[in-house]
Amino acid sequence: MPIGTNVDRKMVTALKKLGFDKVFDTNTGADFTIMEEASEFIDRIKNGGVLPMTTSCCPAWIRFIEMNYPEFLDHVSSCKSPHQMFGAIIKSYYAKKNNIDPSKIFVVSVMPCVAKKFERTRDDMQGEEGLDDVDAVITTRELARMIKQANIEFAEIEDSNFDDPMGEATGAGAIFGVTGGVMEAALRTAKELLEGKSLEKIDFEDVRGEEGIKKAVVNIAGKDVKIAVVSGLSNARRVMEDLKNGKADYDFLEVMSCPGGCILGGGQPIKSSKTRSNVNVFEKRAKSIYKIDEKSTIRKSHENPYLKEAYKEYIGEPGGHIAHQLLHTSYAPREKYNLSQE
Ligand code: SF4
Repeated sequence: MPIGTNVDRKMVTALKKLGFDKVFDTNTGADFTIMEEASEFIDRIKNGGVLPMTTSCCPAWIRFIEMNYPEFLDHVSSCKSPHQMFGAIIKSYYAKKNNIDPSKIFVVSVMPCVAKKFERTRDDMQGEEGLDDVDAVITTRELARMIKQANIEFAEIEDSNFDDPMGEATGAGAIFGVTGGVMEAALRTAKELLEGKSLEKIDFEDVRGEEGIKKAVVNIAGKDVKIAVVSGLSNARRVMEDLKNGKADYDFLEVMSCPGGCILGGGQPIKSSKTRSNVNVFEKRAKSIYKIDEKSTIRKSHENPYLKEAYKEYIGEPGGHIAHQLLHTSYAPREKYNLSQE
């Protein structure tokens, strides 16, 4: 299929054929992440919290900062990443609502990422009863292999909708996969919640594109908020060195370890160097993601009706007690990996 083809609904059908009972959209998990992350950012701005705040949805970035810049750990948002939040919600709110014993639920996340396999085993990624939020992570590349092994003709199968009530995510959730997407989604929510009025323009073009370091200033409720969007760990190191040496000053930082973001993640289908020299894979995949956002009826995470219901019925306030138990995590300095010990 052409690079950038959106196959999410075919994946639902294929996963059902492989034996999964329910298939949910991780983009809904991304909507939860934005609710929590934007609220945390607003709280830090209003109450003089530690800035810049950095995003936390990339586990390779978390491990990198824990190893290399532990003195900056209080800058990292305490939010779990979208699939971890989603796993926690499935084994608590969803299980209770549907009368399912959470210990009978096995959550598998399909991710663009090999680092997510490590992330699910981290401390603080378990629920109240000690159950892991997520029981297994497979990459999109592994899923593709499983589909082939099961002789499912992927290109031929019909589309299916994600299961309810977690079915429809917003456009903001969809753009998480591309560098700048988390920042754009967070700005849509933070700006609207702080200014208390509907945004006229919700596309933040300054944070889009393949460039490794993008900087912009966004006015939120009369305050100029300095943001930077970084992808690729060499760029992250550059930005962190500037921050450390007082050469840079930001309020909000998005960091994704893979250049271009998760659309070019280490677990994604590999394209040959021949293909990559002829086709800009980033551009094709990014275009597809922005199209999903454009076509979405709801494009801001805080307007997702499922989220509103979950907060009203179970979680309470974003950043509140239950939200912290379920959806937030913690970090600790980590020793640098020493190759010579191998
Ligand atoms: Fe994983 Fe790469 Fe995405 Fe980070 S940027 S979450 S390492 S795929």
